[in-house]
Amino acid sequence: MPETNPCMDCGACCACFRASFYWGEADDCTPGGVPVGMTADLTDFRRVMRGTDQKEPRCIALMGTVGTRVHCAIYDRRSSICRSFQPSWAEDIPNEWCDRARLAWSLPPLTPDIWTAPRDFPKAA
Ligand code: SF4
Ligand code: SF4
Repeated sequence: MPETNPCMDCGACCACFRASFYWGEADDCTPGGVPVGMTADLTDFRRVMRGTDQKEPRCIALMGTVGTRVHCAIYDRRSSICRSFQPSWAEDIPNEWCDRARLAWSLPPLTPDIWTAPRDFPKAA
């Protein structure tokens, strides 16, 4: 992850959407997978990260303060849905869901130059 990765001072998507995935991605089926204790059953075949299926979502694994400084406590073990979610312009294309999540937290959508311009990290609250 480059030092300029804007996700590290965002986290909006982890506190905006339901993060659900095939049940077999959890570590009671796949060693090293998503810690099953951080999940809840959604359907017979899908699980959801705890906290993301509530009215005001916030994933149980999200550490820190949205919009200031965050990290995922299970980054190396996160599910496929989390791995596939791309920040806007990371691959030279926008992601409207990234933009929507940021706007929901009163953060401006990312612009392409965010990936190349030097930035100061925000001060901790
Ligand atoms: S909303 Fe976008 S910028 Fe923020 S953490 Fe998610 S992917 Fe990264
Ligand atoms: S598991 Fe990590 S990346 Fe996925 S929603 Fe939770 S905090 Fe975000």
